[in-house]
Amino acid sequence: MAVREGRWDCEYCGSKGVLGRHKSCPVCTAVRPAGVKFYLPPESETIDDAELLGYAQIGPDWICEACTNSNAADVRICNHCQTPRSEHSKEQQTKRYNVGEAPKSGDMTFDEEPDLAAASLTAKPATGTPNLSGINQRYLFMGLGAIFFLCTAIFLFRSFSTSDITGTVQAFEWERQVEIEALQTFTEEDWSLPTEARLISQQEAIHHFDQVIIGYETKSREVSEQVQVGSETYVCGQRDLGNGFFEDEYCEDPVYETRYRTETYEEPIYENVPVFQTQYIYEIDRWEAVRTVEANGNNRSAEWPDLNLGNNEREGERTEQYTIIFRTSEGADEKVPYENYDEWRTFDEGDQVTLVYDGWGELREIQR
Ligand SMILES: [Zn+2]
Ligand SMILES: [Zn+2]
Repeated sequence: MAVREGRWDCEYCGSKGVLGRHKSCPVCTAVRPAGVKFYLPPESETIDDAELLGYAQIGPDWICEACTNSNAADVRICNHCQTPRSEHSKEQQTKRYNVGEAPKSGDMTFDEEPDLAAASLTAKPATGTPNLSGINQRYLFMGLGAIFFLCTAIFLFRSFSTSDITGTVQAFEWERQVEIEALQTFTEEDWSLPTEARLISQQEAIHHFDQVIIGYETKSREVSEQVQVGSETYVCGQRDLGNGFFEDEYCEDPVYETRYRTETYEEPIYENVPVFQTQYIYEIDRWEAVRTVEANGNNRSAEWPDLNLGNNEREGERTEQYTIIFRTSEGADEKVPYENYDEWRTFDEGDQVTLVYDGWGELREIQR
């Protein structure tokens, strides 16, 4: 157990570095007060003097209630005023420090709070640069906002501003298509037979492979493990013994070593085993689109084309498109598609309409 002698400062006469063994100031004879701050100057040496070690080991000082003198733990009567120790007598505080954290000088009182004023001074943010960039950022956001507002205004203006042009119904166009489907026979194979299929043949075929373990092979491998082979003792702190001396505290850490050994294990041997299922080859009839018949014209009564269905044929999907061509007062042709035949039919050649365009030049509405 390494023991070092601490120091203390006399608050009455200002003497520095009074040896821990003294319970009163050797300069002014003032008693060592309760709560005095003991410290260890840098590179304090361990002591091996038996008498001093004895002082260190007997425990913390007790404080005389009558005169506040510090007395060694082994005396029953105050060295200064002869008042006996009672159960109300307080003991000098003992305290544990981590390595390097024991106070190195007496410039603070024993249990003083951390210097808050100094801490807040260092935590204060630097001034100047952040404020400047903050202002720049604000102008940037204001600029972007103005640009966004302007673009939105232009967009809304163009979308909602309209211009009207007079148009006359000039011509009609229509187109109608009908898909023709034929019943066709396909030869297919699958793992199941559709109900409407005609079976040609069936056979057992490989559907997939299963991985099956067919045995084991004994193999060896090297494995490592951490084994505790001892422990390591080191100084992890210092204790202020409350009597002017400090003692090193020791901690123990386990020491591990990596050990290797060879172990055997069983590795499975796999084989791919085919799994058979019944495969069907069959004929099946399906309706397929084979051709499209079409009709078109420039008159106002559209017709469906003649289908001329052959054997094993039927009508499929029907599609239709209608167009009206308006001649504008500026001499241009506006082709307007219609999906609804009945709506398309309500127009007559020579009808006058108003064509409404938006700010982007798109036809928005036709007013009769
Ligand atoms: Zn003094
Ligand atoms: Zn006393």
